[in-house]
Amino acid sequence: MKILAVNAGSSSLKFQLLVMPEESVITSGIVERIGWDDAIITFKQNGQKITETFQILNHKFAVELVIQGLIKHGAIQSLDEIKGVGHRVVQGGEIFKTSVLITDEVVEQIRSLNDLAPLHNPANITGIEAFRKALPDVPQVAVFDTTFHQTMTEDAFLYAAPYEWYQKYHVRKYGFHGTSHQYVSERAAVLLNNPKAKVIVAHLGNGASICAVDGGKSVDTSMGLTPLEGIPMGTRSGNIDPAVLMLIAGKEDKTYGEVLDDLNKKSGYLGVSGFSNDSRDIIDGMNRGDYRATLAHKIQVKRIVDYIGSYYLYMGGLDAICFTAGIGENAPEIRRDVIKAMKPLGIELDVSENEKRGERMISTPDSKVKAFIIPTNEEVMIARECVRLTA
Ligand code: ADP
Repeated sequence: MKILAVNAGSSSLKFQLLVMPEESVITSGIVERIGWDDAIITFKQNGQKITETFQILNHKFAVELVIQGLIKHGAIQSLDEIKGVGHRVVQGGEIFKTSVLITDEVVEQIRSLNDLAPLHNPANITGIEAFRKALPDVPQVAVFDTTFHQTMTEDAFLYAAPYEWYQKYHVRKYGFHGTSHQYVSERAAVLLNNPKAKVIVAHLGNGASICAVDGGKSVDTSMGLTPLEGIPMGTRSGNIDPAVLMLIAGKEDKTYGEVLDDLNKKSGYLGVSGFSNDSRDIIDGMNRGDYRATLAHKIQVKRIVDYIGSYYLYMGGLDAICFTAGIGENAPEIRRDVIKAMKPLGIELDVSENEKRGERMISTPDSKVKAFIIPTNEEVMIARECVRLTA
């Protein structure tokens, strides 16, 4: 059974065609620069990369090109081979406690959450609508970044702000990267051979979040109402005293929106180092003794460890820490320094395993708390949900 997993952004559309239940990938690709005369569509198949440039002014045309490309490059012979399309949707609010089959009503419900995710949900809806038009007879499923965290209890998800803000405007912590945290924590439970395991997942990519998973359920996570909360990221500040908004707006004659933009796009690794949002550059900078790159790394490690300490106490113990996403899977220096700081919890790094890539245990065999690298796979998670709901 062939399932298409889709992740639509405002100017891009990522896709992956998988065979289920084998979970093997036939083709994957991305349309970039949607809305431009020189948009780029890339297909990756059989180890080959095919890139073409077109004028692609909207998502509708992008989707048509993806579908034509699947046939043209031989990934499918005819459209009826696609048995389901799974869409990543960033914000499911408190409406969606699980993935759902998409109907007109579901689209309206997702739209009703646009205020909570103005940068993401409208783009996700555009992708959904384009695929519903192009493949009207194929079931479509929405898989939300937030649903995995809907198991958090009020003490974890409420801000200590006027309660009416929650009642009137749904102001609370939602958390994101849910499909990734779920995929990695499920895998960790298998590796530990313990479905009740207490696990912390550090999803460290350009966007980054930490999640505490107790017996398969998310009990706390670092991102909040929006992906700005939590640990610092490539360009995001993570937690900061909100009074900074007022101070900088006054000093630099900016609106709150503009300062918020600086916290989203000019902070984190980029803001502290002053030269890059990419962890590879930060590590290189650190290795050549650059003061601010070293500081960016130290802040990052401290802030990750702050969450780990807090989640250890909140869960009343810890079986494993798992590293995933671009940085978590590829940057041994971050893992090394986080694990070093976790020593009081009884964790010992296996130095040589930590230098390798791919799924593996990177703590010593007698380490009380285990550490793993577990490459994430959000597309497989989306495809699994699609199969579950369309079967
Ligand atoms: P996102 O999906 O949030 O855009 P990714 O999970 O793809 O991000 O992670 C992207 C980041 O991973 C890059 O910005 C880079 O900092 C980091 N990264 C990727 N490869 C490596 C590597 N080999 N070593 C260190 N960091 C890496």
